[in-house]
Amino acid sequence: MTARRNATVARGVSTTLPVFVTAAGGGILLDADGNSLIDFGSGIAVASVGNAAARVAERVQAQVAQFTHTCFMVTPYEGYVEVCEELSRRTPGTHDKRSALFNSGAEAVENAVKIARHATGRQAVVAFDHAYHGRTNLTMALTAKNMPYKQGFGPFAGEVYRVPMAYPLRWPDGPEACRAEALKLVKSLIHAQVGEENVAAVIIEPIQGEGGFIVPPEGFLRGLSEFCAEHGIVFIADEIQSGFCRTGDWFACEHDGVVPDLVTTAKGIAGGLPLAAVTGRAEIMDAVHPGGLGGTYGGNPVACAAALGAIETMQAEDLPGKARRIGDVMLPRLRKLASAYPAIADVRGRGAMIAIELTKPGTLEPDPAATAAVAAACHQAGLVVLTCGTFGNVLRFLPPLVIGEPLLEEGLDILEDAFAII
Ligand SMILES: *Cc1c(COP(=O)(O)O)cnc(C)c1O
Repeated sequence: MTARRNATVARGVSTTLPVFVTAAGGGILLDADGNSLIDFGSGIAVASVGNAAARVAERVQAQVAQFTHTCFMVTPYEGYVEVCEELSRRTPGTHDKRSALFNSGAEAVENAVKIARHATGRQAVVAFDHAYHGRTNLTMALTAKNMPYKQGFGPFAGEVYRVPMAYPLRWPDGPEACRAEALKLVKSLIHAQVGEENVAAVIIEPIQGEGGFIVPPEGFLRGLSEFCAEHGIVFIADEIQSGFCRTGDWFACEHDGVVPDLVTTAKGIAGGLPLAAVTGRAEIMDAVHPGGLGGTYGGNPVACAAALGAIETMQAEDLPGKARRIGDVMLPRLRKLASAYPAIADVRGRGAMIAIELTKPGTLEPDPAATAAVAAACHQAGLVVLTCGTFGNVLRFLPPLVIGEPLLEEGLDILEDAFAII
């Protein structure tokens, strides 16, 4: 199968593990050779409710037998509206909201920027160091990391400005200084280099995903959202990776008491089917003229049925609580591992969005080689872990929120063994 893949699938679409999955669920992936792998990746934070959640499968099967597509822009159907109702109910804030549905995270981000520009009549968009917002032209411009996302793919969209992220481990004068200085620096850079009155939107991941699971210090997101409100700037929270119960709240912003103007969601929203959304203040969303937003497949009825099944599962099985419990199990074990291996410079994250950052011991020099070696050892032993980070030196853990605790502990055993052998 690998040979067939290499003969027909484009090289640019790369693969982490050389396995072909035949079945998946409950935190286990079965491959074509009969191996079972413990899944600490969830298909990049997608299969939060599992890869074959009963409520998702039932609703999808029923919908697919009913109709697969009509195009919501031509002849609408109830599932789309129900998903938007759920988004209004679940996203932070009690204000009047509207949503629009799309197919991928990148598409949601593109549309959030379109909406913010239209609503404000301004053009500039401020994004952060280490940000990841997708692979389309505008979202490549918003994404920070060059290899592999941007290399050779320019020119990129204009009017995108980058400011430093509040990254406690790597703040020049340390985590305490980060808390004290980051917000001030970001505000002064926007003022001096862009001008508040030119800024349509500030976009930020409340916990950065691909950039390294970077958790800004308490108060940073709140201060940023207040700054945006003061200057009529649309505050966009990109919750595509952190949203839908992953961090122990329905949305990561809630932890900081932040109510974004617009929220982008995707990944965990629909139990593995492609769906994404922009949800936000009615007056901002509805600034766009009829026909200005949409797409052929956006809010496909099968994907909407899956989302309703996934959201129902999150509610019925208290997946925010399960995510918190996963963090409570993982963090102490990882901290213990860090005290045994000085290459682990940081253990961070919230709920079931947890990472460790590897450096040359005693320094902040990133160690992507050690990170890759630990990941490879885990893969060899049957644990799917993913790497991330601008410097490729972060191991991230995104188990399905429905994973059983014995399996979670077994995965952590494998990780500990991997450190022992590298
Ligand atoms: C994955 C991701 C995206 C892009 O989503 P796609 O569905 O891959 O287009 C955007 N923002 C964040 C924070 C992500 O994690």
